[in-house]
Amino acid sequence: MAARPDARSLTRELLAFRTINPPGMERACARHLGAMLEAAGFRTAYHEFAEARTSLIAQIGGDHEKPPICFTGHIDTVPLGAKRWTHDAFAGETDGDRLYGRGSTDMKGGIAAFIVAALEGAPDLARGPGLVLVITAGEEIGCEGARFLADRKLLERAGAIVVAEPTANYPYVGHKGLAWFEVETTGVTAHGSMPELGDNAILKMARVIGDLEHFRFPVASHPVMGEPTLNVGTIRGGLNTNSVPDEARITVDTRTVPGIDHVELCASLARLLAPRGANVRKIVDTPSLYTEPQDAWVQEVFEICAPHLGGKPAPKTITFSTDGADLKRGFGGPPAVVLGPGEPAAAHQTDEWCSMNRMDQSVEVFRALMLSWA
Ligand SMILES: [Zn+2]
Repeated sequence: MAARPDARSLTRELLAFRTINPPGMERACARHLGAMLEAAGFRTAYHEFAEARTSLIAQIGGDHEKPPICFTGHIDTVPLGAKRWTHDAFAGETDGDRLYGRGSTDMKGGIAAFIVAALEGAPDLARGPGLVLVITAGEEIGCEGARFLADRKLLERAGAIVVAEPTANYPYVGHKGLAWFEVETTGVTAHGSMPELGDNAILKMARVIGDLEHFRFPVASHPVMGEPTLNVGTIRGGLNTNSVPDEARITVDTRTVPGIDHVELCASLARLLAPRGANVRKIVDTPSLYTEPQDAWVQEVFEICAPHLGGKPAPKTITFSTDGADLKRGFGGPPAVVLGPGEPAAAHQTDEWCSMNRMDQSVEVFRALMLSWA
């Protein structure tokens, strides 16, 4: 049998696959992980939502009434950014406890940790409920891979989900949803010296923005996530100073809590703004993710994490969104936590890094979660 990799060397292997999204091109990386898992007895299936945009589902055991536990991560990364890196972004250079590279924290380090735990646990996991690994492409732009798997009903069974995104090994019980909208107003253009002959789209938009400032969400607050938010992020309108503008556009970023349906949210914004003649269109949509902290499995996750955190964790949600919401939908709603070794603050940054001690800690925590599930 080939020597089993440790989490740091596997992270280094994964960093060498260039999976910056766009364009992603995750196929080679997915196949590499699939081959490694097949050699340890996993059954694998590859699913492409577009050419070379490959997600991997790998399963072991599962011949049991109790469904398997799922670990998930995405293999795409964000671009390097304009600023120059002081470390090679693909070589896995180390300095002290830090392993540098694009995707080290978000989230090839997390994937490496659960794969190492899975390879070690394989002989025990082959019997009983088992383990399913969902390794997705295309997360960084709208969770495309996970959504494809959920929409096409390619996910079978899972009784719990660990999303190994960067949390510095703190188990979060979810995150807000994200819904982005484009709002458009139109009018009639005229010479700027005779505005009474036109219909000013920017003035209409000003009133729209005033209305949005007073928008009330149908759910005012959530006990763990707090309040939903709305931010007007961009504004565009008019072509020249001496004309009446006949078109204006804004984009709006809302962050929602459980109980707010994004289709209904779009409809209520449209109703609110209809008297201004505005059109509302949803442009990005990721649902919220939440599991009650009292859930028995979540309590078990808290227990297993506690020794590494210096105390039992309090219920909290994380600020970024993940594939977890689509996968939870695809698996029929099992409990889910976001828990991984990466540093949340280092994600998407220049000189992104992951603590190697945290990776080793994750392997331990993940192994304990896999075995206690079995
Ligand atoms: Zn991520």
